[in-house]
Amino acid sequence: MYGEGILKGLGVTLSYLFKKPVTVQYPEEKAPHYPRFRGYEFVWYEDRCTGCASCAKYCPLGTIKIVTNPELQPNVGNKYGLEIFDIDTGRCMFCGLCVEACPYDALFMGSGFERATYTRRSMMVHIDELRLADKQPSAFARPHLHGVEFGERTSLTSPEAGR
Ligand code: SF4
Ligand code: SF4
Repeated sequence: MYGEGILKGLGVTLSYLFKKPVTVQYPEEKAPHYPRFRGYEFVWYEDRCTGCASCAKYCPLGTIKIVTNPELQPNVGNKYGLEIFDIDTGRCMFCGLCVEACPYDALFMGSGFERATYTRRSMMVHIDELRLADKQPSAFARPHLHGVEFGERTSLTSPEAGR
C-alpha cells in the first residue's frame, strides 16, 4: 500500500509520546550504569598489592609504570615497597587486561567517568591519587561484586575481592 512505510514510521514516533522520558539532567542527575561498566579510572588497593608488576607486564600498551624500593619493604619476602605506581590513562584503552592479570585482586576498573581534562599530562594517575581516590570498583572481571555497596571502605576482604 502506498504510504504504508510513512504510517509505520509515524506510529513509532507516536508510541514515544506516551513513554517516560529517558533524559537526565546531568550533572545534577546521573544515569545509572551497568555494574560491569569500565569507567575512566582505576581502583587500587595498596594493602593487597605486592608490587609484583604483573599488571604492568600484561598491559599491551605499557601504560602502567611501577617502581619498587627494597627499603620500603614493610614485610620482607611478602611484598615490595612501592615508590611509583602510575597509570597513563591518556594511552589506556580500558581493555582490563591488567585487572584480569593481577594475582592478588589489588587492581580493579573503576566506575567513575568524570576525570575529563584539558591536558595529556593530567591524564596521568599517580600513586597518591590512586591511594586517595574514592573506591567504587566496577564488577568487570568480578561479577560477584554486582550490587555490593562499598561506601567509604578503603580495603576489601579476600572473599569480596576474589574471583
Ligand atoms: S586497561 Fe588495558 S591498556 Fe589500560 S592499563 Fe590496563 S592493560 Fe593497559
Ligand atoms: S599485578 Fe596486582 S599485586 Fe601485582 S603490582 Fe599490579 S596491582 Fe599490584
